[in-house]
Amino acid sequence: MDTSRAWHGLDMQFTPEERSLFHASTTMQPGDGTTTLFWEDRWLLGLSIREHAPALYMCIPKNRRKSRTVAEGIHGNAWARDIRGILGLQEIGQYLQLWLLVSRTTLSPELDKLTWKWTANDIYTARSCYQATFHGSTVCRSWKLIWKSWAPSKVRFFHWLASQDRCWTAERLARHGLTHHPRCLLCDQEPESMQHLLLTCPFAKQTWHGIMSWLRLPTPVPDQDATLQDWWLRARDATPPLLRKAMASVALLVFWMIWKHRNACVFDHVTPSLVKLDAAIKDESRKWSKAGAKGLRVTLPSSWDVH
Ligand SMILES: [Zn+2]
Repeated sequence: MDTSRAWHGLDMQFTPEERSLFHASTTMQPGDGTTTLFWEDRWLLGLSIREHAPALYMCIPKNRRKSRTVAEGIHGNAWARDIRGILGLQEIGQYLQLWLLVSRTTLSPELDKLTWKWTANDIYTARSCYQATFHGSTVCRSWKLIWKSWAPSKVRFFHWLASQDRCWTAERLARHGLTHHPRCLLCDQEPESMQHLLLTCPFAKQTWHGIMSWLRLPTPVPDQDATLQDWWLRARDATPPLLRKAMASVALLVFWMIWKHRNACVFDHVTPSLVKLDAAIKDESRKWSKAGAKGLRVTLPSSWDVH
């Protein structure tokens, strides 16, 4: 498992734009080559194989591109055996050039290093990724909710995608002409869009009501709000300033957990369960509190072992 990738641990699918943003923003410096993808990552003199040898890259089956590491590829020149089809002059020329470049590559016992180009110290941060995405465009007002609250990066990343309607809901799959389930799997009542899942789905609302029975927070639950941002502003106004940090973390946590539950139903054919989701949210809020979500901790029942 490649833990250095920004999407490590995310159970969601990415669009080509999101992948290319990440791709354009990173280079890999191979150490032992075990976490760098030979065909996909920018690891050879700061460029990817696609950039060095575009025609040849097209001769590589997709599953190979996504799985072949630099370590495997270099060993016994296994990369050359990934090439499929009949090669024309252009491909052969690129193959020879690539052969030369790859043969000069030496690996070391160090770990591979991901370099992120949007921060001065080369370290990936979710915030710089967000800013990179909005180069030259209007900054959306959910910024504060997503990027200033305590939450793990993967959760913020999910919210960033969700706020732009970029998660693969049934509605989005339908727009792209892909197979999708006709109704929301959580409530079986309406078509599934992000707005439905997070704001108007009866199952999601019941989840919120359940949580509000043990959480010490006077925040109104989502109810027919037109957008996530509308709810966020309404909820914020109704929450005392001292508890707003907690509210933001809770919002990020609950929406994320609803999405995860939905994914379990879609991909693992789990039956939707309010009881299980509530238990999972309790469990996760404990973990977040222990990991540093101070605001959230204040709102958890005083009998819990997090105080
Ligand atoms: Zn629903």
